[in-house]
Amino acid sequence: MSNETEADLTGVTPRRRPKANIETIGGRKLSPATLMMGHGFDPALSEGALKPPIFATSTFVFPNAAAGKRHFEGVTGKRPGGADGLVYSRFNGPNQEILEDRLGVWEEAEDALAFSSGMSAIATLFLTFVQPGDVIVHSGPLYAATETMIARLLGKFGVHWLDFPAGASRATIEGVLEQAKAKGRVPLIYLESPANPTNVLVDIEAVSAARDAVFGTGEDRPPIAIDNTFLGPLWQQPLRHGADLVVYSLTKYAGGHSDLVAGGVLGSKRHMDMIRAIRNTIGTICDPNTAWMLLRSLETLELRMTRAGENAARVCAFLRDHAKVERVGYLGFLKDDAQADIYRRHCTGAGSTFSLYLKGGEREAFAFLDSLRIAKLAVSLGGTETLASAPAAMTHLSVPDDRKRALDITDNLVRISIGVENADDLIADFDQALAAV
Ligand code: PLP
Repeated sequence: MSNETEADLTGVTPRRRPKANIETIGGRKLSPATLMMGHGFDPALSEGALKPPIFATSTFVFPNAAAGKRHFEGVTGKRPGGADGLVYSRFNGPNQEILEDRLGVWEEAEDALAFSSGMSAIATLFLTFVQPGDVIVHSGPLYAATETMIARLLGKFGVHWLDFPAGASRATIEGVLEQAKAKGRVPLIYLESPANPTNVLVDIEAVSAARDAVFGTGEDRPPIAIDNTFLGPLWQQPLRHGADLVVYSLTKYAGGHSDLVAGGVLGSKRHMDMIRAIRNTIGTICDPNTAWMLLRSLETLELRMTRAGENAARVCAFLRDHAKVERVGYLGFLKDDAQADIYRRHCTGAGSTFSLYLKGGEREAFAFLDSLRIAKLAVSLGGTETLASAPAAMTHLSVPDDRKRALDITDNLVRISIGVENADDLIADFDQALAAV
């Protein structure tokens, strides 16, 4: 939320400036894991409650008319940085603002916004930047609904797109950007890394260099936005590598318990102000209850992701050597190629979501899935529990066969998201399920 606003004629000082909001102790900068417990919340403003209450209200009472006017200047974008005070729950609310403060901490983002789903975050982002006749440039593949959003939904309004393969070199990316520039205005460069479902990494630094080579370094160059759902915020922090905006399905690792749907966008204030104005108009903010649940989830984010990452490393090591396994697509197994180079520069961990290719086809994949006892047969990822699914028959069923082949979405592919269970129990479960194949 905006804060430290100078006193003005409204006599209103920002309401939630937390007294106990200690960022440093003895010169030591506090880590995000520590800040998740209290950052952005002052118990004195809520009857001393240790945890923020859930503010179930549709609107907020202004202290005076001048304050109301000032707050609306923030809501409408007349005053950058959002409203100084609480206005109406389609625009802001205490739970959402505390959540946004804490989301930004992980990547030292200038600003953050919470949304009702990952897709509503992505849709709001596109609606902010895109006009008819524009040419969006994106990496491919993207999450299927994002591709649908660009090609079908925005396509209906005269928006075009060009893509480059996720693992492309700087020269290829620059070529696609030149081509797009010749076709129309490029409003946004949109990335997803690692790509869903191929796990291919995008070289964000190369995209940034290519963008600046083609469009210059002025403020009017297209911003780079990236979906960091699979590795963020712990294992990849794209703002440090040249991205301007980071997008999340908070439904996944951030929520982390498979019990909520939400989204987030973080990034530079200038761009976030533009996105906030559109979110205020269309109402894609998340609700207070979901924001509260996310606050609770963020307290254990580092613990959960670390444990899931360690579990995945052990499970993948077991699966890789199994006689019934063709190969395992796991970022921790990258060899000395361009992908490994991107991994070394951009990532601090391999994540806990990977592709398991069994020897055989759909029959073997289904037999494996049907035999699992701890891992649940369900789509999604990033939760405390281990999930497994067959993309070719489920999430990517509607993808044309030739595109499936190009993306390596074969019938023998099982997607696995490892949770925080005991790693030996998980290995025992995968072992018995493979034996049943
Ligand atoms: N981005 C990625 C990479 C995803 O995997 C998903 C959902 O699976 C989304 C975005 C959409 O998020 P949500 O389901 O929260 O709308």
